[in-house]
Amino acid sequence: MPDPARRNLSILNEVYDKIKSKYDSEKTGISFVRWVSDYLLMNLEKDEFIRSYAPHLSKIGIHENRLIIKDTKKNQLAEIFLKDGQLYCSLDESTDCLHIHFALALPELARLKKNNK
Ligand SMILES: [Zn+2]
Repeated sequence: MPDPARRNLSILNEVYDKIKSKYDSEKTGISFVRWVSDYLLMNLEKDEFIRSYAPHLSKIGIHENRLIIKDTKKNQLAEIFLKDGQLYCSLDESTDCLHIHFALALPELARLKKNNK
């Protein structure tokens, strides 16, 4: 009998395989359903935290291997990309600024490829 308080959700096979593999490697002792639920919740809470931490920053997207961030305080765009193995911000010409910190919290960061100079 399914738990009436629990809703079922289908996910793509390749996503299931990745998340199950991560769950198995962490050996937490909690159930897979609880672990996935906690994982999703933490990420949603992280997104909310980022919005309150830097309300003037927002993600535009990825263009030509660069993560584009809109800064409404400076009224400019920051392009974040990998340079010599480090994240680099075009706006501040820096490897350590608020845009980099913001980018580090975005899942899209994983889409930046390492071959950018
Ligand atoms: Zn910056």
